[in-house]
Amino acid sequence: MTGGGNTGGCQCGAVRYRLMAQPSDAHICHCRMCQKAVGGPFAALAVVNPDDIEWTRGKPAVFNSSENVQRGFCAKCGTPLTYHYLGNDRLNFSIASLDAPGQVVPDIQIGIESRLPWCAALANLPERTTDDIMPEDKKTNMGKNRQHADHD
Ligand SMILES: [Zn+2]
Ligand SMILES: [Zn+2]
Repeated sequence: MTGGGNTGGCQCGAVRYRLMAQPSDAHICHCRMCQKAVGGPFAALAVVNPDDIEWTRGKPAVFNSSENVQRGFCAKCGTPLTYHYLGNDRLNFSIASLDAPGQVVPDIQIGIESRLPWCAALANLPERTTDDIMPEDKKTNMGKNRQHADHD
């Protein structure tokens, strides 16, 4: 990957990482545990060896969502960052936490027994940009954006 595509982090910037290897097995997981863990309809994850992710600022806090599964997230802002079946050399990280998330493309959907029934129809919904739907006064009244930039 090039152009900063190998770095990422949480929304507030307290936790930042760099991938030392090309991720593999990019996938969408619709399982109920991933839905809860990300607070969204599904998780988008890809895999690296735990040794190939370097935590360049802070470290994720962890929640053992099962006895042998650790989910890492930023303790300050809550961004979901990792999923690790302990003892396994495959560390899943959240694709959307990358600074350039579009570069890692999922090629399979798993956990489809829990897939929300409206997921497949998303592509048919009307589309608007954020700019389209945001009233002019909201754009100025929201206050300073505290999201960390998509780079270190
Ligand atoms: Zn954070
Ligand atoms: Zn899952």
